Amino acid sequence: MTTILYSHPDCLAHDTGYDHPESPTRLKALLAKLQEQEFAALDRRPAPPAARVQISRVHEARYMEKVFAAVPTSGEANISPDTIVSNKSTGAFMRAAGSVCAAVDAIIGGEALNSFCAVRPPGHHASMASTMGFCVFNNVAIGVEHARHGHGLGRVAVVDFDVHHGNGTEAIFRNDPAVMVASIHQAMIFPMSGARSDTGVGNIVNVPVVRNTSAVNFRAAFEAEIIPRLLEFNPEILFISAGFDAHLSDPLADQKLAPADFTWMTEQLMSVAEICCGNRLVSTLEGGYDPAALAQSGAAHVRALMRH
Ligand SMILES: [Zn+2]
Repeated sequence: MTTILYSHPDCLAHDTGYDHPESPTRLKALLAKLQEQEFAALDRRPAPPAARVQISRVHEARYMEKVFAAVPTSGEANISPDTIVSNKSTGAFMRAAGSVCAAVDAIIGGEALNSFCAVRPPGHHASMASTMGFCVFNNVAIGVEHARHGHGLGRVAVVDFDVHHGNGTEAIFRNDPAVMVASIHQAMIFPMSGARSDTGVGNIVNVPVVRNTSAVNFRAAFEAEIIPRLLEFNPEILFISAGFDAHLSDPLADQKLAPADFTWMTEQLMSVAEICCGNRLVSTLEGGYDPAALAQSGAAHVRALMRH
């Protein structure tokens, strides 16, 4: 059994306009890297669109209708100050969310041990009824609810190593002790939340790091503050909100990670999945805004996932 890779050309057709950091170029660079020979064994599958009922487990119906209505027939439209949509965006929203649900089906169905969803737009800043930070639907949260309500799983954990706080995912699950949400992120940048003192009902773990944290200290914080809590929580499936913008070259933050650090975090999380949940792990792309760094870091992540 190998790693399943979900993606779809519709995710490249979501046009965010001139010079927007969340551009199709990011995903194009990562997918090109994943075409190289070392990734030949990936089980490549087209991301299916989510069913509306899957999205509605997280997002209010009125919000969904507002999103669909905001997509213009031509040109671009802003649905939040930094979230831009265009005429082909709906397919990207639906397939980004649908990829995570399909990955959940495949992993719980025993078709593979883990999966990576190479999709856009990202999702972790989207909450129940608001779009924010390039995110429209919270893809990972929709996958979590699919694992619980579609498959009857009890305890589910999300680890978000995107350099920005996963505030949408936290908002969705902050009162739900059956879902643990752990986020390591740079303090005092967008979206300005994610303080260590925000613990939800004991299910939220926030690990803010200062700007210019060394990779050694970043790893130490991850290992000391996230891994033990995951083991204690003992999830039945583990989700990763895999943003690669803590890379040294990323233009939107000031961290110092290299691809090897993403390999290391991936291996740490795979160990947790092996101990707790029969290796069941679903990872989904969030941010990463230097296309070359994203390609290298995402490839390091997938290379590790394939070595189980
Ligand atoms: Zn980010």
